[in-house]
Amino acid sequence: MKLEYIPTVCPYCGCGCGLNVVTIDGKVEGVEPWKRHPLNEGKLCPKGNFSYQFVGRDDRLTKPLIKENGEFREASWDEATSLIASKLEEYRGEDPDSLAFLASARCTNEENYLLQKFARAVIGTQNVDHCARLCHGPSVAGLAKTFGSGAMTNSISDIEESSCIFIIGSNTAEQHPLIWRRVLRAKANGAKLIVADPRVSPTAKMADIYLPFKPGTDVPLMNAMMNVIIEEGLEDREFIEKRTKDFEKLKETVKNYKPEEAEKITLTPADKIREAAIEYAKADSAAILFAMGITQHITGTDNVVSTANLAMLTGNVGKRGAGVNPLRGQNNVQGACDMGALSAFYPGYQKVIEEDATEKMSCAWGCSDLKCTPGLTVVEMMNAAAEGKLKAMYIMGENPMVSDPDIQHVKESLENLEFLVVQDIFLTETAELADVVLPASAWSEKNGTYTSTERRVQYIRKAADAPGEAKDDWQIICEIANKMGADGFKFSSAEDIFEEIREVTPQYAGMNPERLVKPEGLHWPCPDETHPGTPILHTEQFATPDGLGIFFPVEYRELAETPDSEYPFILTTGRIIFHYHTGTMTRRSETLDREVPTGFVEINDEDALELGIKNGDMVKVKTRRGEIEITARVTPEIMKGVLFIPFHFAECAANMLTSADELDPEAKMPELKVSAASISK
Ligand code: SF4
Repeated sequence: MKLEYIPTVCPYCGCGCGLNVVTIDGKVEGVEPWKRHPLNEGKLCPKGNFSYQFVGRDDRLTKPLIKENGEFREASWDEATSLIASKLEEYRGEDPDSLAFLASARCTNEENYLLQKFARAVIGTQNVDHCARLCHGPSVAGLAKTFGSGAMTNSISDIEESSCIFIIGSNTAEQHPLIWRRVLRAKANGAKLIVADPRVSPTAKMADIYLPFKPGTDVPLMNAMMNVIIEEGLEDREFIEKRTKDFEKLKETVKNYKPEEAEKITLTPADKIREAAIEYAKADSAAILFAMGITQHITGTDNVVSTANLAMLTGNVGKRGAGVNPLRGQNNVQGACDMGALSAFYPGYQKVIEEDATEKMSCAWGCSDLKCTPGLTVVEMMNAAAEGKLKAMYIMGENPMVSDPDIQHVKESLENLEFLVVQDIFLTETAELADVVLPASAWSEKNGTYTSTERRVQYIRKAADAPGEAKDDWQIICEIANKMGADGFKFSSAEDIFEEIREVTPQYAGMNPERLVKPEGLHWPCPDETHPGTPILHTEQFATPDGLGIFFPVEYRELAETPDSEYPFILTTGRIIFHYHTGTMTRRSETLDREVPTGFVEINDEDALELGIKNGDMVKVKTRRGEIEITARVTPEIMKGVLFIPFHFAECAANMLTSADELDPEAKMPELKVSAASISK
């Protein structure tokens, strides 16, 4: 018997915990936390502990599948990739923009880099995006506007040095358990914890100051906090003067958001707003943590800008224990963004609209027809498919049939395509609609790099072979590109691809496999091989052209949908500790599935009493998009008038109910966190 421990990185959330995959005679049998890893220090959350269980499932995809007369049949790789290559050539010949590509926050940097390169350099379209659009697109846009760089400003470890932590729009205890551990350490050291949330979540229960607030009213809440800080003279005048500009514009706007006025919009008691503002402003170093509660709104960019305004106002940027920290939900969503799997950015956030960047990438990739206009985003792709403007899509490791808003619309859009390719490890709800399905290797079956939420780039290692004929995603892309006669896809390993990534991505230039194999990895930016990496951004100056942070005043905008007599509740969505995203992996883990086998809707106990709904009743939740049947969980731990459904469960999918009608004007984020809804027995 051969027992091996292969050090790698957890495939789930953006914390990026290190673990060892345990194999016996080459078969994955378990995981052990990596004790030397600086982030998790030998700890894992339930998801990480059972992350090996789905890998060996019998329903893994093992051979390419081609759909004929509505049924899948097995095919050889040669047949499947030849079919795809000829179809892509055909559509490219008609119009490259009739094709679109979805990359994946679950795949490696190398795979995301190659898919966007393939879309741009081989097909000639900027229509490449991925599900960051539906999570932290507004973080990229909002922090780029204010700080010049759209990522977590600080490292996870320095959260424990904060003297005040303000969490808004994040249930950190369940979503990022190993970040939550640092929050608890900070609390044990005397830090004050402020949590703003419509639910008394496990995170909110630990707060020193809890701010209940109506979903979608983040801007007036934070404007009111800034109003108090300025009224009390608690702003950091030296920081504002030396490091920022346009403070007077912010002051002019927030003066109209007195806590008593804000209370009417947010439903947060004015005295609580005042108490939270003073606590945050007086702290020596105060950190803001946020997640999709902030971003998944049509005002997502405004919400993120507000967090940046608040941090700059109090001088809480560029030092330990402070900063603005978007907590990324997926293992490599930061990396997929860094790699240019976004329709407006090349690798390293070099803008598609800038001619210099387009020329640089054209030279690097040896192509001449890159367009200087951003391509379609995730929701725009679905709309274009529904209208018949998009003919074909290539989806790598994403499951929009559960993750995207208004699933009925997504289904109609995907069914309206002439040709759909899905590359995945299981036959997901999306793969079932495909014309060709390609079997991919899972996280423990390949080499490459992931970039965690704190910009830490880490090496992942192959522990076992993929089942059947499944291949690494990068190998599949290369095979198709080579069949199409493209140059620049003759890679023989993930390391080869990383060499090219370094050449075109300034933030990754100083990284190499020898440096990344260490458990610490490296935080970007790391511009050269002598650079130690950058755990804290903006210490001396911001990443804006003149080095100054920019205050952007933001006014409150009404919700996209307000409750009315037909739909009197606000429905919001989120995650739970035992499941991950669309459930493709965690619901195939017997231990995690046993904990929470299906979805539920939380309803306030007083609301439930009025409607005659009891705990455990099957209820119907309805919005203007559709309806689902789901079990009621009656609880006092959610605001009156608000419903909450976790979005992991396809059979009672929260996204059957959400809307894709309106988008954030900058980040193109739909209104996922607020839908007017009704509930009945
Ligand atoms: Fe994995 Fe995140 Fe849990 Fe760490 S906290 S073990 S990265 S799911």
